[in-house]
Amino acid sequence: MNEHDDAIVAVEDRNASYLSIVVILGWFIIQWQLSVLMQSFFQHRYGAHRQFTMSKRWERFFHLLAWVIQGPSYLHPPTYAIMHRMHHAYSDTPNDPHSPFQQKNFATMMWRTRTLFDDLRYRRVAVEARFEGGFPEWHFLDETVGGWTTPVAWGVLYTGLYIVLATHWWLFVLLPIHLVLGPTHGAIVNYFGHKVGYHNYDNDDHSRNTLIVDVLTMGELFQNNHHKWAQSPNFAIRWFELDLGYQFVRLLGWLRIIDLSRAQVPHWRAHAEPVSRPS
Ligand SMILES: [Zn+2]
Ligand SMILES: [Zn+2]
Repeated sequence: MNEHDDAIVAVEDRNASYLSIVVILGWFIIQWQLSVLMQSFFQHRYGAHRQFTMSKRWERFFHLLAWVIQGPSYLHPPTYAIMHRMHHAYSDTPNDPHSPFQQKNFATMMWRTRTLFDDLRYRRVAVEARFEGGFPEWHFLDETVGGWTTPVAWGVLYTGLYIVLATHWWLFVLLPIHLVLGPTHGAIVNYFGHKVGYHNYDNDDHSRNTLIVDVLTMGELFQNNHHKWAQSPNFAIRWFELDLGYQFVRLLGWLRIIDLSRAQVPHWRAHAEPVSRPS
């Protein structure tokens, strides 16, 4: 092999290296956004709160879509709904499933959430009757197919793809986060959304609006607005706030895939406590 061939091989190696970085980072970023969008739209706004309605067929479609998109960190919708309703009922008090004011740090809060999620999922702890019902249930997908083997199978698949695609050791740093994207999104929202930012309302808890345009978690970081108007599909209230997840909800409403006609409409008035008006 002469010098000319060596140069060609070097260029090809560099191109393959760039491609590997673009593919892995692109996959990670796209899946981050789509996973949190599905969590916000399906498990949270629809499953836990029923802020809008849809036909059983569309419910099944989005249930399956959440399962595919969230992959190894798919969040069991009934358990998500129960735990999330507990969060609203007990926000920042000792019975809150996850609060930065009850757990010492980000990691302990995430661990407590995880263990309680499993306890609720397998009914090892009692669930108050008021937190039950009205959430999407699909026995075949979530119980027959879903079990501990399914996330393991997703994990093996993702690890295999990293081994094939990654040409730099540091890209593997992303893999453990990639495998637990759903809980990571939840922990970011529950930690920073109750710790960092401003508040529009006094909700008798520590909920905060962390960002004024929330791209990172698709609107979920408007926790203060959301704790005030839990039945509203729009988490942004003031003129400078933008909830990207709600834009997706609006699009589906406009396409008549979901029904927003009975959705709660939030209000903001400076220097005055807004009046609750479910419409
Ligand atoms: Zn909250
Ligand atoms: Zn909520």
